[in-house]
Amino acid sequence: MAYIVGLTGGIGSGKSTIAVLFVELGVKIIDADIVAREVVAKGTPLLAEIVNHFGEQILTEQKELDRAKLRQIVFNDPKQKEWLNQLLHPAIRQEMLNQLHQNNDDYVIWVVPLLIENNLTEFCDRVLVIDVLPEIQLSRALARDKSNIETIKNIMAAQVSREKRLSYADDIIENNLPLAQNFSNIKEQVLELHQKYIALALQKNK
Ligand code: ATP
Repeated sequence: MAYIVGLTGGIGSGKSTIAVLFVELGVKIIDADIVAREVVAKGTPLLAEIVNHFGEQILTEQKELDRAKLRQIVFNDPKQKEWLNQLLHPAIRQEMLNQLHQNNDDYVIWVVPLLIENNLTEFCDRVLVIDVLPEIQLSRALARDKSNIETIKNIMAAQVSREKRLSYADDIIENNLPLAQNFSNIKEQVLELHQKYIALALQKNK
């Protein structure tokens, strides 16, 4: 089994941006957001359960899950939200752990926005935190998502504090500077971590 590096950070911190740099080095990524979509893809038993519960109206014309509609329903109804979470969370967690266990590379990067919030650090050999100042997080998430400032602030408030997240970090990449100015520095840090993780993985499997 691969050595597992959990990569986390708050909304808009730069997790995806930095994960891509590991991919370019040939590292396999297991991404919680992608797994969350896989478990409810067309033809899955979980999608069938969701249709059973909410009716065919929850599907798009292509018979795929209508995420916008589902979001709207659970946003307005805490009981339905609870039902959905109880269905999806264990399945997503199990599928992520399956994918991690099946991997035989030296190490994998496991990208999980809510790694700490969902108590998943226990499954990691190491935790890499992407750290940014809250005001930078806010402005980058706003620019990317085109949602309103209150929505982003609410999401940030529901995530762990920067201090708490950092207290779990074995490694930190600080991503405050604009990439245009700091890209080669970030790339260098990623390369150093890559070499460190390979060494740690070999040590563990000795
Ligand atoms: P989320 O958890 O919200 O999906 P994330 O942590 O994966 O976010 P990214 O999507 O990588 O974050 O980055 C958020 C936005 O900020 C993106 O539009 C990205 O292009 C931009 N960004 C990331 N890092 C920098 C940087 N150093 N300078 C400028 N823009 C950046």
